[in-house]
Amino acid sequence: MKRFLCLLLALSALSAAAQRNTIAISDLPHLPSDTLPTDRPNVQIILYTDNTFRYLFTNADSLSRTELYASHWDTTGIFAYRDISLQSLPPTIEIHVIDRYDGFHFPRTGQIVSRYGLRGRRNHNGIDIALRTGDPIHAAFDGRVRYSRYNMGGFGNLVIIRHTNGLESYYGHLSRRNVKAGDFVKAGQVIGYGGSTGRSRGPHLHFELRYADQAFDPERLIDFTSGQLRYQTFLLERSFFNIRSRAVEGLEEEDDSFDIEALMAANEIPEDGTLSEEIIRAIEEKELKAKEAEAAAKAAKYHTIRSGDTLLGLALKYGTTVDKICKLNGISRNTTLRIGRKLRIQ
Ligand SMILES: [Zn+2]
Repeated sequence: MKRFLCLLLALSALSAAAQRNTIAISDLPHLPSDTLPTDRPNVQIILYTDNTFRYLFTNADSLSRTELYASHWDTTGIFAYRDISLQSLPPTIEIHVIDRYDGFHFPRTGQIVSRYGLRGRRNHNGIDIALRTGDPIHAAFDGRVRYSRYNMGGFGNLVIIRHTNGLESYYGHLSRRNVKAGDFVKAGQVIGYGGSTGRSRGPHLHFELRYADQAFDPERLIDFTSGQLRYQTFLLERSFFNIRSRAVEGLEEEDDSFDIEALMAANEIPEDGTLSEEIIRAIEEKELKAKEAEAAAKAAKYHTIRSGDTLLGLALKYGTTVDKICKLNGISRNTTLRIGRKLRIQ
């Protein structure tokens, strides 16, 4: 009888699963109600009390992680996936950023001094967070240190961690590294201390997130002001790997021809600090843009999902489009709207 009940539960769970293609971990209740075998030896189904289910890869630690940390494992180079081209990546990659076993911790919160994007004619593949030398830097997710060295290419003391969620995170300009290649780390572990080593004009953390060597804007996933993770299941679009594809809307069209940091880096701003009219105007413009972006962030509107809500219904209600809502929240049209979840509307 118990078996029969299990089967019924599994069937209803499967039909529920057919209606959606992503499972947000936050949506899952914390207590599994039962487990079921499958025809694959290392895979079990965990059933939850609300009839949702999830595959459990038994021995996942020893199987998938061995693979994850064995192939493309390079402890001397900053890139490890040179044979995988950008074009060969799928258009959308579903990243289970955290799950019941693996957590998140912000690497460092603080003032953002430079965002992902073009910096003059150079790419800035990460985000710069201001800090004081010696401030602790935390591993963002669970994983294994792939690289911990002094990098001559400009990163200074650099730690790269490969995470169980498939992403790699880069932590540059550290004053001290606390870990060595091969070390397993937990989210939140102090992997080093902030500094200004390498090509750096002052103490800050240079932080990157990459998938198969391809960088995307870390602000898509992490709010560096509050220290919050934005998504637990994240749909990583191949288009995000474009340096012009930024998380903050409105910044994509930014004219970088007067990027102050680029000018400073190129020593086009003299040591004595005298600024030309042109540069003063550029600074003022930059400050104005920052104020506008702040105002836009304050104007953000949220909706808490109630029973019966649909993406189309919300789009009509708030005079927006399904595409815009999906983009703001990093979800797809097929994502199940769980009651109680907060969606950003504008
Ligand atoms: Zn940087």
